[in-house]
Amino acid sequence: MGRLFKTYLSGSTIYCCSTCKCHLAVHEDIMSKQFQGRHGRAYLFNNVVNISLGPKEERVLITGLHTVADIYCNVCHTVIGWKYLEAYEESQRYKENKYIVERKKMVKESEIL
Ligand SMILES: [Zn+2]
Repeated sequence: MGRLFKTYLSGSTIYCCSTCKCHLAVHEDIMSKQFQGRHGRAYLFNNVVNISLGPKEERVLITGLHTVADIYCNVCHTVIGWKYLEAYEESQRYKENKYIVERKKMVKESEIL
C-alpha cells in the first residue's frame, strides 16, 4: 500500500465520512438533496474527495439504466454511495460524473466537534 494522502476541504459546511470523519464534500457542491440511496435519503454532489471507485457496473435505477461505480472512503473503505459514469436517458445526462452519497454515511463537521 502506498502512502495515504488525505484532502482537507474548507467551506462553511463540510460533510465528513460518518465512520472515520475524513472530509468528503462541501455544502456548495450539493446539486440535489432529493435522491434515494440504498439506505434512504442521499445527496447528489458535484465533487467528492478522499474516495476510490469500485468496478464499473450497469445498474437499473428508478430513472432507468445507468453505468455506475460504487465509491469507497479512502481511509476506512466504507461504501458511501456511487458515481454516475453514464446515463442512457437524455434527461438523466446531468448526473454523469456526479456522486451520490448516502445521508447516513455522512456527518457535518460541525456536529462532530
Ligand atoms: Zn471513512
